[in-house]
Amino acid sequence: MTGPQPKDWIKAIHPYVPGKSTTDSGRKAIKLSSNENPLGTSDHARAAFAAHAGELERYPDSGATALREEIARLNGLDADRIIYGNGSDEVLHLAAGAFAGPGDEIIYVNYGFAVYEIATRRVGATPVIAPDKDYATDVDAILACVTARTRIVFVANPNNPTSTYTPREDIARLHAGLPSDVLLVLDHAYAEYLDEDEDDGGFALAQAAPNVLVTRTFSKIYGLAAERIGWGTAAAPIIDAMHRIRLPFSITIAGQNAAIAALKDQDFVRASRAHNAKWRAWLADEIAKMGNQGLRAIESKANFLLVLFEGHVSAETAYQGLMDRGYIVRWLPGQGLPHGLRITIGTESETLGLAAALREIVGG
Ligand SMILES: *Cc1c(COP(=O)(O)O)cnc(C)c1O
Repeated sequence: MTGPQPKDWIKAIHPYVPGKSTTDSGRKAIKLSSNENPLGTSDHARAAFAAHAGELERYPDSGATALREEIARLNGLDADRIIYGNGSDEVLHLAAGAFAGPGDEIIYVNYGFAVYEIATRRVGATPVIAPDKDYATDVDAILACVTARTRIVFVANPNNPTSTYTPREDIARLHAGLPSDVLLVLDHAYAEYLDEDEDDGGFALAQAAPNVLVTRTFSKIYGLAAERIGWGTAAAPIIDAMHRIRLPFSITIAGQNAAIAALKDQDFVRASRAHNAKWRAWLADEIAKMGNQGLRAIESKANFLLVLFEGHVSAETAYQGLMDRGYIVRWLPGQGLPHGLRITIGTESETLGLAAALREIVGG
């Protein structure tokens, strides 16, 4: 007797591989593998969470109204055109679920975020991979992949795992080149790490165009990864379609309150951005000094570096060596990057320690 058979497109999914938090030998280690905020979260967010932690018997507000209003106020958006999700991952899945199915195509870049493949295959759609340009998003290559079957284009900006940034002009050109019935999803998981005067124009497009969804998360700079809160904004018909299939209660009461308090503490966000910029530059410099050992960091606009190992020490050797010294980073052979390590920018002492460990491993 055979049991129930998953759909072929479900069997084709490569399950998401999360960053490790203990070493292979089970030892607790410094985790630089999931792009979390090394400074933690806002004290106000922590206090708001604690104040609501005892509210367990009632359902949360299904509309997350107070949270959406605070998001709208801070970003100059319309609260009615904001949808939340259990992490921005849920919002990405809602986009695929509402707008694509078997026979449709979804485009994303080579070295794109792992969730795009899962969201695409889950609904039976076909992934189409656009070639990169030295690890960066190539909007012309994406446009060349568009066919009559294309329903969605996913672009993370900055991108994970490559850390690269697609400037406003390129995003505008990409949008202008897409048919208006193709949904352009701009995944802004790392947007708060950009310099304050940097803006890829995503919100302006989401407000004006019928086919742009911008997603954001509380998991990265806001330091609330455990609470699973993300959101998106787009034209009303897009939000309406996604509402039809979303889970009615996907974020908790304490989480909603923590997120509202986090939004009101922009000092914490600024301090996190400044810390990241300082130590990202420092670490990139250290990697550059290891250039004659074949190491190279891709120019990063995010809270991590993608370090390529093109010399005598392999990324796998460095990954194991770092693990042995108590540092967990991300080695990504499953994403076509067997020669790369993605390293989250940690605290000052974590970053100093990581660099010293790496120097020891590569020698010279
Ligand atoms: C971390 C990340 C997310 C956010 O995931 P959440 O579900 O909000 O925790 C989304 N997109 C990219 C590219 C990411 O790296």
